[in-house]
Amino acid sequence: MTADVQCPACGEIVEIVLDPHGGSSQEYVEDCEVCCRPWSLRVSFREDMASVEVELAS
Ligand SMILES: [Zn+2]
Repeated sequence: MTADVQCPACGEIVEIVLDPHGGSSQEYVEDCEVCCRPWSLRVSFREDMASVEVELAS
């Protein structure tokens, strides 16, 4: 499963891979593939839909 997120630092749309088996609600840090700034990701899964919130990690 993948999702497109917009990087809050550089504005690029980046496709990320999601793991629905890691739990219905997940929070983790991942670096932007484009500008390498760290994202703080909040992912929640409902049935086969995912919602992703992204902000810059401090
Ligand atoms: Zn970026």
